[in-house]
Amino acid sequence: MKGLMMHRPLKIADIITFAADSHSSGEIVSVRTEGDIHRTTYKETAGRIAQLAHALQGLGVGEGDRIATLAWNGYRHFELYYAISGIGAVCHTINPRLSAEQMIYIVNHARDGLLFTDVTFVPMLEKLRPHLPEELRIVIMADRGHMPETTLEGTLCYEDLLEGQPGQMDWPDFPEDQAAGLCYTSGTTGNPKGTLYSHRSTVLHALSMCISIPKALHEGTRILPVVPLFHVNAWGLPYGAPLSGASLIFPGCALDGKSLFDLMDQEKVYSAWGVPTVWLGLMNEIKERGRLPEGFGDVVVGGSAAPRSLIEAFEKRGVNVCHAWGMTEMSPIGTQCNLPPDMDDFPLEERIDRKQSQGRRVFGVDVKIVDDAGMRLPHDGRTPGHLYVRGNAVTAGYYEDREASYQAFDEEGWFCTGDIAAIDPDGFLLVTDRSKDLIKSGGEWISSLDLENIVMSHPGVASCAVIAVPDPKWDERPLLIVQPRGDAQPQKEELLALLAERVAKWQLPDDVVFVDSLPLTATGKVSKLTLRKQFAKERA
Ligand code: ADP
Repeated sequence: MKGLMMHRPLKIADIITFAADSHSSGEIVSVRTEGDIHRTTYKETAGRIAQLAHALQGLGVGEGDRIATLAWNGYRHFELYYAISGIGAVCHTINPRLSAEQMIYIVNHARDGLLFTDVTFVPMLEKLRPHLPEELRIVIMADRGHMPETTLEGTLCYEDLLEGQPGQMDWPDFPEDQAAGLCYTSGTTGNPKGTLYSHRSTVLHALSMCISIPKALHEGTRILPVVPLFHVNAWGLPYGAPLSGASLIFPGCALDGKSLFDLMDQEKVYSAWGVPTVWLGLMNEIKERGRLPEGFGDVVVGGSAAPRSLIEAFEKRGVNVCHAWGMTEMSPIGTQCNLPPDMDDFPLEERIDRKQSQGRRVFGVDVKIVDDAGMRLPHDGRTPGHLYVRGNAVTAGYYEDREASYQAFDEEGWFCTGDIAAIDPDGFLLVTDRSKDLIKSGGEWISSLDLENIVMSHPGVASCAVIAVPDPKWDERPLLIVQPRGDAQPQKEELLALLAERVAKWQLPDDVVFVDSLPLTATGKVSKLTLRKQFAKERA
């Protein structure tokens, strides 16, 4: 028997309409490319989103059309998220840190009809233009007074588009599985692959994050998404924040420790979200100034493993660390490590140890770990296996890429994350490594993350990576690559001795190499692929 309840399709536009009604004074503060700070509310923004939606329709944008964005975190980018999906089109966020080749590939693969760009990226687009579809039209996200000189032909001005458009919109209805957003992973091997989010997956993910991370997501808090809108929907914040009534503080393009500190201080940011590299920069600034930014009490760290030393530095200063794990293909949040209240009384050191894990799954994400043969492994906290997920906000296949889609799922339809993890009886997930980063030495696995974590606790280490290099006897052996902090270069023997206190002898790196800087991926993580290519060749 069916339930006797209304069926209203889940729609992204309903989030901003709700925020305008119920959290009308919730703020969006943006550092603009124009150089100033812009302030608005969810209520005002809803009006501008309606104007933008009318403008898009006026330009002929229809359901299913892909509209690209190449922009920093700011209110105009936020408006695009809602206006594009609101009329049934697809908001395709492009990561400007991708290589030119990858960017050309994805704009052509997605067949974007319009591309909205911040002024910053105009020179880059001028170079790419000959390789992009001829019919692609470009809109510059500025007002008339800030339109740059450009060789790009027929560019439109964002604020001109909005002018004179009605500030109300009767958002159309469509099935809730209508596509809404498109994000390509940075593609460490092969071409980038597109994850195509739907209205349903996006709304469910937003609801789930509000329930799972309520410390940050509730009415009146002020949240800083350092994680970019061009990377997996800034981890869902453009949806979760207005839904919960939290305000958004968008940092624009300056993401160094000093700029972030100043902005957080000025805007009384409570919760800040981003990858570990960003927080290492902020922590340096905090140490230098000898204080926290005013109002700062919570940091969400994800995208790669948060080093213990980083968690400790925040927690010891009274900032709650929420270590989270997820993927582009999961919208992205899979697990979060805020501790349950029964751990409130645990000693700080024990709480910090706990927070090294990636935490418990959020509602709507099922997890399983399996061995090489696909057999389920126990959740005993000790047995690592291949991590698979399923859920309403998990991809069901890559956009127009049958081969990649075919390889990504097991026979039961679970998605293969490519991560190796253990799960304990309380549901805490501990990611050991990405399967391609694990070091297979003499038939045993060595976790690069474990070794990195220990090395990061040395005060003379700014950043580090452990990679596998080929070895004729053991197959692969670990190599430690270290970026020292300032001039305080630690000795190789010192680092190996530090490791020897904590890991078995056979797991110790065979060598330590010091470098000025480590290569980063387009999403700000250390690129082990680049390091492997470089050092495997050198060491072969
Ligand atoms: P990209 O490959 O573009 O960086 P994602 O951002 O989707 O794509 O990366 C997802 C991967 O990042 C995960 O599969 C996992 O390997 C890693 N990751 C994300 N969060 C964490 C975390 N908290 N700890 C360890 N690894 C993480």
